Amino acid sequence: MAEATAILELKDINRCYESASVLNGVSLSINTGDSVAIVGPSGCGKSTLLNIIGALDKPDNGSCTFGGKNIAGLNEEDLARFRNTSVGFIFQAHHLLPQCTVLENVLIPTLVTKTDAAFRDRAMQLLDRVGLADRANDMPGKLSGGECQRVAVVRALINKPRLLLADEPTGSLSRSGAIALTDLLLDLNRDEGMTLIVVTHALSVAQKMERVYRLDDGVLSDYTGGDV
Ligand code: ADP
Ligand code: MG
Repeated sequence: MAEATAILELKDINRCYESASVLNGVSLSINTGDSVAIVGPSGCGKSTLLNIIGALDKPDNGSCTFGGKNIAGLNEEDLARFRNTSVGFIFQAHHLLPQCTVLENVLIPTLVTKTDAAFRDRAMQLLDRVGLADRANDMPGKLSGGECQRVAVVRALINKPRLLLADEPTGSLSRSGAIALTDLLLDLNRDEGMTLIVVTHALSVAQKMERVYRLDDGVLSDYTGGDV
């Protein structure tokens, strides 16, 4: 069997807001194709950690390496490209633009490069994959919350990111919607070999991932059971 390669390495990450220390020496190694959950109580720093992984925020100390490259060493242009093409983000709120159709929303991340026919084909394939091909020309206002979140997943995947980051992706969905979305993320992880990191305080979501970590008091450890 081929040796697993780390796609992401965090070493001794610290992050403070004003005087409060949120992350206190977080180290984490994630292999290509892993599915990982990070759980922990509200306010413990899960979003802060995910934003650092996706280069939306910078640590005060420590290093973050993606595909062997130190993210802190990238200039603004390379950082923007990294965020746009190597990483896909999904948040609790879908953030679809209400004045654009489903298909237009999905193609937004491609606008900085060029929206060509290949992207439209991929968009339609992905929409089909999540059961929404026939809604491509609808406005988001006509879709349910779960359908909008599936559109947000397609938008996150349009540039074929190697890493998908999801911050409480099921937080505004019904129980059945949460199960369906989690299963969809895992299918994409398995079928496309896309590395998946999900931050959540829902244990039912977290426990479907291969590995579960707990963030508490700024420290990351293996989740071994109990409340989050
Ligand atoms: P979680 O996602 O686990 O709920 P966050 O990462 O959002 O936690 O926040 C962790 C802590 O950092 C909280 O106490 C929060 O109030 C604080 N915090 C988050 N963002 C900022 C900010 N931009 N400025 C000041 N404090 C912040
Ligand atoms: Mg959060």
